Amino acid sequence: MPEALVGVIGGSGLYQIEGLSDVEEFYPDTPWGKPSDALMVGKLEGVPVAFLPRHGRGHRISPTDLPVQANIYAFKMLGVKFLLSVSAVGSMKEEIPPLDLVVPDQIFDRTVARPRSYFSDHNGIVGHIPFAEPFCQSLRPILNEVSEASGATIHFGGTYICIEGPQFSTRGESLIYRQWGVDVIGMTAIPEAKLAREAEIHYVLLACATDYDCWHTSHESVTVEMVVENLHKNVGQAKEIIRRFVPAAAALQNSHLECGCDKALATAIMTDRGVVPAESVKKLGLLVQKYF
Ligand SMILES: [Zn+2]
Repeated sequence: MPEALVGVIGGSGLYQIEGLSDVEEFYPDTPWGKPSDALMVGKLEGVPVAFLPRHGRGHRISPTDLPVQANIYAFKMLGVKFLLSVSAVGSMKEEIPPLDLVVPDQIFDRTVARPRSYFSDHNGIVGHIPFAEPFCQSLRPILNEVSEASGATIHFGGTYICIEGPQFSTRGESLIYRQWGVDVIGMTAIPEAKLAREAEIHYVLLACATDYDCWHTSHESVTVEMVVENLHKNVGQAKEIIRRFVPAAAALQNSHLECGCDKALATAIMTDRGVVPAESVKKLGLLVQKYF
């Protein structure tokens, strides 16, 4: 099996990364089925990297239907410790115009129809991970720095509201979300961030603003055409940020990190070890085996 240290999930418009050498495909069967597509595993700037187009090549899978449990587990199988998620978002603030980038620090979950945990399906193991800081506190400043260095206009911090979709918001919803003070809106950070934390992977999000959703009276309401057009404009920038982020994240490999993402399960499992079904430990495999 190939190995990787850094993972990248490409969102809408980002279906490959440039400069990946010695590429192998990895399309495993996980306990949660197949990932969205084969992961491309190779070297970028000398670092072993795995790339997954979130919606599959050709953009085939709706946010609600994404096999996120399989996606995150596939990265875990490769040994990925640091995961960068790139996502198109709508801007909920005047001061974040389309084509600006955001490194959010918070999430508000408005999804309703997707699995959000590995500790589900009545599998007999209950785990409650800490999630007050949903993004890795070690990777966020690094992502901010490399984005600035690549010439992007980047906003450090902000709340990402995650809606179920696949429809865009109504204007009423959009105006209410603005009153809540959120910064950007998207459909995929949940459950990715939750499952990455349960998998003890450091996870950070690069949000690329493509539109003003539908709240902005002097701009047209969001359409797919608008999203795609602006994505094409900033996909080059996202690729440059990835090229700089990968070696910077890899350099943390042997550092002691205060964020604690890699120990999230150490105090999270409530279930008495004596009553946990052996088959559940086997299914959760790489996620929990070091605790049993
Ligand atoms: Zn972390």
